[in-house]
Amino acid sequence: MHEVGMIQNILEAAVVRAKEEGAQHIRVVQMRVGEASGVMPDSLEFAFDVAKKGTIAEDAKLQVEKVPVICYCSNCNIEFLPTSELNECPECHQAYCEVRQGKEFELAFLEVS
Ligand SMILES: [Zn+2]
Repeated sequence: MHEVGMIQNILEAAVVRAKEEGAQHIRVVQMRVGEASGVMPDSLEFAFDVAKKGTIAEDAKLQVEKVPVICYCSNCNIEFLPTSELNECPECHQAYCEVRQGKEFELAFLEVS
C-alpha cells in the first residue's frame, strides 16, 4: 500500500503550509492526480483516512482532480490522448510515446480555518 507513504508526504507539506498561514485546521485537501500516476482513487481515499489521523487535517475532506494522460509523438510532432497503455501514436502507430501529462501526484489546493 504505497499510497499511504505518498499521501503522508503530501499531508506533511499541507500541514506545514497551513501552519505558515496560522491555520488551526485543514478542511479540504485538493490534489491533482494523473491517470498515469498509478494511484487508484479508492486506495487514495483509504490512505488519506489513515494518514490524516492525529494531524490538523484529521477532519479534512479529500478532493481529487483527475488529470488525463497526454502523450507526444516526436515523429509526427503531435500530442494525443492515448487509447491504450501502449501510448500508441494515432498517426504513425509508434508505441510508448513520451507521456507529457498524467503522472501528477501533487497538492493543488488547501482550505484551512
Ligand atoms: Zn506519430
